[in-house]
Formats: sequence, structure tokens, C-alpha cells
Amino acid sequence: MDRKKVLIVEDEKNIVDILRFNLQKEGYATLEAYDGKAGLELALGENPDLILLDLMLPVMNGFEVCKTIRDKGLHTPVLIITARETEQDKILGLDLGADDYITKPFSIRELMARVKANIRRMAMVTQAAAQETPANLLDLGRLVIDKGAGVVRKDGADLELTQREFDLLTYLAANAGNVFSRQELMERVWNYEGYVGDVRAVDVAVRRLREKVEDNPAQPRYIITRRGAGYLFQKDA
Ligand code: CA
Repeated sequence: MDRKKVLIVEDEKNIVDILRFNLQKEGYATLEAYDGKAGLELALGENPDLILLDLMLPVMNGFEVCKTIRDKGLHTPVLIITARETEQDKILGLDLGADDYITKPFSIRELMARVKANIRRMAMVTQAAAQETPANLLDLGRLVIDKGAGVVRKDGADLELTQREFDLLTYLAANAGNVFSRQELMERVWNYEGYVGDVRAVDVAVRRLREKVEDNPAQPRYIITRRGAGYLFQKDA
């Protein structure tokens, strides 16, 4: 079996050393870049299975790297590693298309669990795309989810969703009417087993999803918030 390839973009040599050592121990191949521009070139040229991306980098910062990767249409999972504590940075990173962030100093176990979860999620998506059958169509009225093609249509027009938004919508819609807590969604959509950390990524993904799916994101009628409980999908009546 092919070894999965992880690209490390980080200018602190000792952190790169720790990451490389642990990733290789787990059987991953690694690529390294010590500035943003070199990282971007490797991301585009080497097609890694996952990118670990520092934010404060020479030449080009991590935000720009992430945004450019997404603008070029690459769906590679991006995990931001940041020493910056501010919420704004984290939210901005997620808004620019990162899949997750982890704050320095991080636990290696936690980091490896997230690397594994994100690579597995991507593998499942690719597999699902290869098996197109009519059963892969989820007809929700004005919204139709084509799981095989990885496309959501509203009133017949394709919506531009990120992989994570697509996974979240598909999960909620396939279980329409059931309420899921943020914690449950972290476990089932993000694949983080027994996750006990920050669940804000769920709120960010829901907000972005509503902007694309709802007629009026301020008054959602598909992705509904149940206060104190979580989210549910409501089909067209
Ligand atoms: Ca740095």
C-alpha cells in the first residue's frame, strides 16, 4: 500500500524534527518546507495527502498559503498549527478553508489522531466518489445531494461547498429531523473519536454552510439550531 504523504510547512526546525520523527514512526512519508512560498509550491506540485501548516512563516504567511491552495481548487486537508492564541486567527484560518487548527504547544498524540482522522475522511470521500449509484442521490426537495459526484444542487444549480461543508450537510440531511450536539458532530463528521476539545469548528462550518444553502442565512429553514442541544436538518415540507 502507498504510504500517505504529509507536508510540513513550519519554520521552526525543532518542531519540524519532532513532526517528521513522529509521522515517519506512524508510517507516513514527509515533505518539508521552511517558508510559505516553498510550502505552497510543494502543496501544488507534490499532491500531499495532508498539510500541516504553521501561520507565522517567512516570505508568505500561512493564511495566504491556505487561501491560495483553496483558490487553486485543491481539497487536501489542511491542519493549521499555530502559536497564536486569538480566536480571530482560528476563525480566519477556518474561513480560508483550513479543516482544523491545533495550538502550540500541542500534544503529539492529539496531533497524530487528527492527522489520521483527516486522512481517513479524505479516503472515504474518494472511495464514495468512485461508486456512483442511484442510491447515492439524496433527494430533499429543492436540495439534492449527489454523494457519488460529491455535489449538492439547489433548484438544479450546483452549490460550491468545501469537503467539510459537504460532509456536514450530508450527515445532517441523511438523518433529517434528528438533533446532533456539536460534540456528536465533531465525532461523526470530523471523525474525532471521544473529542473533548473546542467544538467551535462546528459553528463555523454551519455558518458557512447556511450562507450557501439557505435562502436567508439569518433565518435558516434547512439547518436549524436547537438551543442548548445542537443542530438538525429539516426537509422541505
Ligand atoms: Ca512560525
